[in-house]
Amino acid sequence: MRSTISRRNLLRKGGEAMIASSAVACGSSFLNAGNATPRATKGVDYYQKLGVTPFINAAGTYTVLTASILPDEVQAAMALAAQQPVNLNELLDASGEYLAKRLRCEAALVTAGAAAALTVGTAACVTAGNKGAIVGIPVDMTGLKNEVIVQKTHRYEYDHALRNCGIRFVEVETMDDYERAFTDRTVVAHFFNAAEGGQISREDWVSVAHKHGVPCFNDAAADVPPISNLWNYTQMGFDLVTFSGGKGIRGPQCTGLLLGRKDLIQAAKLNNSPNSNTVGRGMKVGKEEIVGLVAAVDWFLSQDDAALEAEFRQRAERIIQQLQDIPTVETKIFIPPVANHVPHLLITYDPDRIKITGREVMQRLREGKPRIELNPATGGGSASAGLASGQNTIVVGVWMMQPGEELVVAQRLREVLQGALTG
Ligand SMILES: *Cc1c(COP(=O)(O)O)cnc(C)c1O
Repeated sequence: MRSTISRRNLLRKGGEAMIASSAVACGSSFLNAGNATPRATKGVDYYQKLGVTPFINAAGTYTVLTASILPDEVQAAMALAAQQPVNLNELLDASGEYLAKRLRCEAALVTAGAAAALTVGTAACVTAGNKGAIVGIPVDMTGLKNEVIVQKTHRYEYDHALRNCGIRFVEVETMDDYERAFTDRTVVAHFFNAAEGGQISREDWVSVAHKHGVPCFNDAAADVPPISNLWNYTQMGFDLVTFSGGKGIRGPQCTGLLLGRKDLIQAAKLNNSPNSNTVGRGMKVGKEEIVGLVAAVDWFLSQDDAALEAEFRQRAERIIQQLQDIPTVETKIFIPPVANHVPHLLITYDPDRIKITGREVMQRLREGKPRIELNPATGGGSASAGLASGQNTIVVGVWMMQPGEELVVAQRLREVLQGALTG
């Protein structure tokens, strides 16, 4: 029996009344629009055909877990866009203009994800005003500025996206370091928006860079909600800002936004698909995905931060209700400070009474029917939950679930924790 089918059966049997009541109770268009229970459509189910088993996403917008599900409006817009050819440059220009207006910045470009935006945005800074350099980077850097200033605590797993442009990082810690780091080879000052522990604030990062006539870039890939972050950082003065299209915005996973100064966005376009012999040529975004991201931005801007937060809290609380009478289990709703800034559920328990680790719980849910993926911070496996560090921790990301799924997750957690209870 395929797990998609058993999941549907499960939802039908156990969850449907709850789904209906939770959708009515919340009345949020987040539920009505984007988070519908999977429906029968005309197409072939290739997940089934290929034997790839979908799961309930109790993790969040993790890339390897395919991040998010497209709201219905986005799916419909993409299906329409797939039916007719257009000129890719015209579509990139028009979508950029539309997005810049909606997101209150000078200019915008749909890229192949935030990582691609980091690459073509950096390429823009390196090659600005020097079209001949576009072909040469990252190997031929003759006469090009190649130093990217970054706080030591902002070095991260996306460094490579910038290094693709032949740059090298110059690390700073204090404001004094920062002031002294600027040379005639400085090309951009890079900021990782969700970094923890840097000494230099966003505002100071911008003002010192601008004092030296150097553009600054903010990677805010996973940093919506709040919705207003989509303009907060460009309005703060960052010359380039990127967001993932497929995370909180819930557009196609292979899209991203590059927002910012008109001249730099123009330079980024020259380094990007469909132009051949550029660093961005392999980072092509198709017409369906470009339209999909525009539709997702429209959808996301129609949402309301407070209503989203309330809905996510309710989901977490429904899970808490199912677990609270299990001996030694403690629960807490927490909101990570910058990235994934929505309510998550932290569950802890006495490992002497409940003899199973968080990692083992995670594996049991992954192997169960329906398949469930818990947040990777479970079992202390990642620092992303901030406060979850022990082996006896379970972290549930509720924001990418579909309505009613929280009850299925709650039942499974209850079964597994009860089953491991001793004494
Ligand atoms: C997810 C993420 C990226 C990459 O985003 P994609 O849209 O998957 O390319 C870059 N930077 C940060 C901080 C991220 O969280």
